[in-house]
Amino acid sequence: MSTRNAIEDLFRRRTRPAGDGHLNWTGYRNKKGTATLHWNGSNHSALRIAYRIRTGSDPIGYAHATCEHPGCVAPKHAADSAVTPRRGHHTGPINRQPNSSDDQVKALLREELSDRQIGKRLRTSPKRVAALRAELGIPSRPVTFEGRWDANTEPADGGHIRWTGRFRAGSNPAIAHEGRDTSPRRIAFERLHGRPAVGRVLPGCGYGPCVRPEHLEDQPMRDQLASQYAAIFGEVAA
Ligand SMILES: [Zn+2]
Ligand SMILES: [Zn+2]
Repeated sequence: MSTRNAIEDLFRRRTRPAGDGHLNWTGYRNKKGTATLHWNGSNHSALRIAYRIRTGSDPIGYAHATCEHPGCVAPKHAADSAVTPRRGHHTGPINRQPNSSDDQVKALLREELSDRQIGKRLRTSPKRVAALRAELGIPSRPVTFEGRWDANTEPADGGHIRWTGRFRAGSNPAIAHEGRDTSPRRIAFERLHGRPAVGRVLPGCGYGPCVRPEHLEDQPMRDQLASQYAAIFGEVAA
């Protein structure tokens, strides 16, 4: 691989498309906020590399982004200050810290990332993330299915596990999971068998509130049991 391709490859791996042809920099930024790449013993400006990717040569002046996407390093948006004047020309550094949109922050909150993780990924203040988290009502410590399961079950005599949590339609255990109201039996079934349940998931043990994964059956399991019973005991007239 040639020198040029090696550094361009490194550049690509430090970027993430941001939509509309913009490109975010996920690599290092110096104190001035300039995206830089350490390669072969020295630091290179990411925008200079972007400019070189687009034009095949180094800019005469400074490399700067011509778009309004904060911190963009898209080669197509990289220009030479000696040729194209910088837009806006703020007194701050050429590459100001990108300021992500509320929607970007909210999307990561829904993926259950922490305030710090989101702050780091989007280069924004964790305090701002926390404020948006409160607005959405998303708890700061993600509650896992296992955590909810432990809080809503207890062992019962006979090897059963009783659901002590919420019921839907009177008798169906219900749980909030990944933003949906769903059946803990369905989730437990899928985890035990490694396949989604088909039809209703009900305890085959005869203990009504049971959610013990090994006691749960879906429709194909009930059908198979019925045919096994039929083979052993003969068809029972309906
Ligand atoms: Zn751009
Ligand atoms: Zn049971």
